Amino acid sequence: MESTTAADPMISLRGVGKRYPDGTVAVADLSLDVPAGELLCLVGPSGCGKTTTMKMINRLVEPTSGHILVAGEDVARTDPVRLRRRIGYVIQQIGLFPHLTVHANVGTVPRMLGWDRARIRARVDAMLDLVGLDPATMGRRYPHELSGGQQQRVGVARALAADPPVLLMDEPFSAIDPIARDRLQAEFLRLQREIRKTVVFVTHDLDEAIRLGDRIAVFRQGGHLEQIDPPASSAARPPTSSPASPVPTGRCGGCR
Ligand code: ADP
Repeated sequence: MESTTAADPMISLRGVGKRYPDGTVAVADLSLDVPAGELLCLVGPSGCGKTTTMKMINRLVEPTSGHILVAGEDVARTDPVRLRRRIGYVIQQIGLFPHLTVHANVGTVPRMLGWDRARIRARVDAMLDLVGLDPATMGRRYPHELSGGQQQRVGVARALAADPPVLLMDEPFSAIDPIARDRLQAEFLRLQREIRKTVVFVTHDLDEAIRLGDRIAVFRQGGHLEQIDPPASSAARPPTSSPASPVPTGRCGGCR
């Protein structure tokens, strides 16, 4: 482990590239820093390399060039299982275990870490509370007994259970109906103000990026970084305040 200071980014991509075996260059040469406690949204058209970028951070995809550091440590030299225990991962299709209760789902990583039962119970209850689910009633249910929005909350609770410093979120709220999505976004913002994780959040919804992101990274094909700015600046500003804005409305032009 390399030494870090408070000023070092929590996540650092240095000249990162990914060429898939079929020759597709998903990401050509990407350099990007995410400071600790920042929520960075990645937006851009379908196929521009957002998901590949995210999956290289927790080594679900291995880069073919460059380096990725998490808390100063080169992920290529970190055991993937150990790495993923420090990086919560929330995806659109949730990935809850259907045969396990909500309680058991949220307790997955703490169980793997060998926590004792009382500590797991207390942590799971706290996490369910945090995401707005009543531990007593919801903890005993199975995923199919929950709404889509509730399942997504369980996914967030599970990702936070072992208190990882980093969260990767890949279109976590996209499959949820607009009203529930709006509530989830608001609650996630409230939550993030409390827990201040370093979050990389992929979305095709620019409104969502503007609402949630401390900064927005706009990608174009090949994982090229078009711009990276706070939402109030040019990337996300509507045309009335920024005639030169490449994004003409609150929606991401080329996005899915
Ligand atoms: P995004 O998340 O922005 O939609 P992806 O990172 O999923 O983009 O994909 C970037 C590019 O890499 C696309 O052209 C996609 O088709 C390609 N790609 C993704 N996964 C694979 C794979 N396993 N094998 C080959 N090409 C892939």
